[in-house]
Amino acid sequence: MSDSINFNIIGIAHTPYKQKFGIPRQPGLAPDIPGTLVINPPFNREEAFRSIEEFSHLWVSFVFHGIQQNKWQAMVRPPRLGGNKKVGVFASRSTHRPNPLGLSVVKLESIEIKPQQLLLHISSHDLLDQTPVVDIKPYLPYSDAIETASNGYAPAPESNLYEVKFSKQSLDFIDRWQHQQAENLKSQLVSILSQDPRPAYSKDDPQRQSYGMKLYNLDIQFSIENNCMKIDDITQI
Ligand code: SAM
Repeated sequence: MSDSINFNIIGIAHTPYKQKFGIPRQPGLAPDIPGTLVINPPFNREEAFRSIEEFSHLWVSFVFHGIQQNKWQAMVRPPRLGGNKKVGVFASRSTHRPNPLGLSVVKLESIEIKPQQLLLHISSHDLLDQTPVVDIKPYLPYSDAIETASNGYAPAPESNLYEVKFSKQSLDFIDRWQHQQAENLKSQLVSILSQDPRPAYSKDDPQRQSYGMKLYNLDIQFSIENNCMKIDDITQI
């Protein structure tokens, strides 16, 4: 057997996350963020997905295509340890692995079959826009959910860690935007920002108080004020 294996890209994830900053560190943390897996030919055949709608959740294997260069490291600094302590790469979910493969459980919302096109509408994911998908399998709770499993150094995050506030300007923008789009932008921003997307190293930087994040075609400007996330402004890119 040779030392490398080629995989087929079976589809591409289309998601509102246009940059890595702001994406939850695991799926399930921002449940209302939508996404669509657009399946590539020749895999976009209806029969290849027949009965998939019987499952509420799917395992999605994907390629971390957005990393700068795939330099794997034996030890990494997980954000959950504040970026200070190192653990082995295989004891982490780091993107800097020998093979840049990611694995996420996502919620299957619906399947849409059009002529020449098959779409899986999903939510509750952590996928950068344009992520190449290499496999999809049903999630089986009887086998995959292990109630007695231990979390190691990564205990479940507290829910809604930060309160999220909106400036009048940003609320006016959201009102206008939601009028045209089906998405509930306000609740999506709360679910993303309440998780505190800031990298560990910038949290202690007193100079760094304001941040920008791209979601859909929007530039979201926010700052930290009295331990609250405050959305200062939203503009269309
Ligand atoms: N749930 C996956 C896993 O365990 O393999 C991903 C975990 S990884 C810690 C999650 C981070 O990967 C996200 O916060 C996002 O910044 C990053 N990410 C998501 N899709 C990516 C992509 N296509 N390329 C590079 N980074 C990506």
